[in-house]
Amino acid sequence: MFKFLVLNPSTKSDEIIKKANIQHKKNEFESVILLDKLDNPVEKLDVPSYYPSLEDDKSISVDTNLIGVNGILKLNSGVTIAFMDNVEVSFNGKIDILILKQWPSKLSNLIKKDTVSIDFTIDNLITRFRPRYIFASGEFHEYGPFRWESGAVSRFVSLSKEGEGKWFYGFNFPLVPTEVASQDLMDNPFIETLSVKRRVDQGENSESLPKRAKVSPQNCFFCLSNPNVETHMIITIGQLVYMTVAKGPLTRSNASMPFSGHGIITPVDHMSKNTKEVDAEMNEFEVKLFHKFKQNYPDFVLVVFDLNLEKNVHYHRQFLPIHNKFLEEDKFSKVLEEKAQTNNEKYNKNHKLEFKNVDAVDVDSQYISFKVYKDEVPVVYQSTIEDDSKIIDLQFPRRVLSYIIRSPKRLYWDKCQQPKFKETQDCEEFKKFFT
Ligand SMILES: [Zn+2]
Repeated sequence: MFKFLVLNPSTKSDEIIKKANIQHKKNEFESVILLDKLDNPVEKLDVPSYYPSLEDDKSISVDTNLIGVNGILKLNSGVTIAFMDNVEVSFNGKIDILILKQWPSKLSNLIKKDTVSIDFTIDNLITRFRPRYIFASGEFHEYGPFRWESGAVSRFVSLSKEGEGKWFYGFNFPLVPTEVASQDLMDNPFIETLSVKRRVDQGENSESLPKRAKVSPQNCFFCLSNPNVETHMIITIGQLVYMTVAKGPLTRSNASMPFSGHGIITPVDHMSKNTKEVDAEMNEFEVKLFHKFKQNYPDFVLVVFDLNLEKNVHYHRQFLPIHNKFLEEDKFSKVLEEKAQTNNEKYNKNHKLEFKNVDAVDVDSQYISFKVYKDEVPVVYQSTIEDDSKIIDLQFPRRVLSYIIRSPKRLYWDKCQQPKFKETQDCEEFKKFFT
């Protein structure tokens, strides 16, 4: 049995250390966990104490017994503590205690009735690792215990800053968790995510939902479960979909925008075609993107495109900001018509394209679509694909857009790939912008 003490410190570092030492004398803690860094303390803690740090410095400060941890810490006792707000998709071990800066969206929605958050990155982290204890900073609140389908049990504790409410929490941590009686369990707020996913999974065998594509998820470029997935490009992970920066972007960072802005929204599950549920969440992302661009880069218009085809390996949707000088009046419609005409007349073996304005795409059909967000409600263009045995110009959307932004050389994504450091930089800038 181990005992831990978790503290949410204010700037009164030395007083906090004295209080922690008094508690340690009585309880003999395995460690003290701090939700924030202490402010230049003079006093020394009598027990190793860990705080979230941006530097990966796990060396003990001998003067204070304080250790800054960036990411995951495995104690000699076998207990694993994770200090993170970012997903480390590559980590495959267990997490016993998770220390967060902000509340998970699901709990925030449930307890604070905050329904605006659509960033489920932390929720997905919790769903994946099912930590026994989850701590966050904020008003004091305890939620749980709640149980997972595996039988694992989690508890959530939010602590106020010292001086503003309950700011410390001591608990026993047996290496083998003790049983929790059913009547003591609360609803698991994260399970809904799983049941939505399961509905989609189960649907894969039925006729009404898209057939599984031939490329397996392990080899699929767009599958989050692919061990080779390029995690440095992930901007955020939602419930059913996730968002990344695009490889070989059409637009580049420039004097007016510090990142390319070209991104991809992809379903988490391996599916060839769009579904109503996926479409709804992608549309939420788009509206948020529209507002972010409007607020920060009012001269740019968000343009979205996708190909909804049975033949897709893994359905996805792309978006990019286009300067409004390229989209004056009905410029977009004209170019679209022109390029469709070229496709239909010059390449007569190609499937004919005829774009029509629709209120919303029909997810059950096959189509190529564009959305132009000059306003919160976009103008939607859809060309239905009736016969997918014909040649479909998969480059068509990129052909139209590279023409519009006068960058014909950017037509093929693999010809304009960026070095990894640039992709990482684009992604970091995008995160700052979006979250
Ligand atoms: Zn896939």
